[in-house]
Amino acid sequence: MPNRKSLLTNSIVKKDKAKLQKGVRYLGFDGVNTFSFSIKSETREHTFHHIKLELTELYEAMLDLVDVDSITDITLIKSVITYAMTLSIKVYCSCEDFLYSGTKYWNYKNGSGIEEETRPPQPWKLAKRSLLCKHIRYILMNISRYTNIMARSVSKAYQKEWEDYAKEIEARELADIAEEIGELEEEKPKSKTSKKAKTTTAKTSKTKKSNK
Ligand SMILES: [Zn+2]
Repeated sequence: MPNRKSLLTNSIVKKDKAKLQKGVRYLGFDGVNTFSFSIKSETREHTFHHIKLELTELYEAMLDLVDVDSITDITLIKSVITYAMTLSIKVYCSCEDFLYSGTKYWNYKNGSGIEEETRPPQPWKLAKRSLLCKHIRYILMNISRYTNIMARSVSKAYQKEWEDYAKEIEARELADIAEEIGELEEEKPKSKTSKKAKTTTAKTSKTKKSNK
C-alpha cells in the first residue's frame, strides 16, 4: 500500500520553498483518521489551499498499541502516527496543480487518493506523473513539525471511546465471573461427576468442619 516514503519517492522533486513554511496551518482531525492543513498560496493573495492526509490504518494501529492508560501519552501517540504513515496514506490538496495536472488522477490510480478521479490528464501533461503537489510534499517532508499537535487531537478524539471500551471489558469480565459463580451454585447440589462441583463440595465441607 502507498505510504509516506513511497509517495515522496514517486513525486517530482521541486525546490521546497522556505516560504511555504510560514503559511502552513494545522486545521484539525476528523476524529477517525484524517488530518487537515491549510497553506497560503504563494502566487495568489488571500488564497489558501486545503490539504488532507488520511492515515488509513491509524485506528487499527491505535487499537493495537495504545490502551486506556496510555491514551493521553502524547509521545506514544506521536510514534503511532509516524508508524501509521509507514503503513498506508491517502492525500488530497485543493490546489490547481493537484486537481488538474494529473496528480489527483495518479493518486487515485495508485491507491493513495482520498477522492476518486477517473479522468486522466490531458496528453500534453502526461509526462508529469507526480503523486504530490508541492504543498503535500512540503507537509510530508516536514511532518515531524506537526506530529505533536496531531497526536494531541488523536488523544482527545479517541479518549472517550478508549475509556468506554475499557469499562465495557471490565463489565464483561464481571458478568463472566458472575455467570461462573452462578453455574457453580447450580452444579453444587446434583453433580457428582463434575470436577468443579466436586472441588466446591469438598471446599464447602471443609469450611463446615472448621466452622464447628
Ligand atoms: Zn497542492
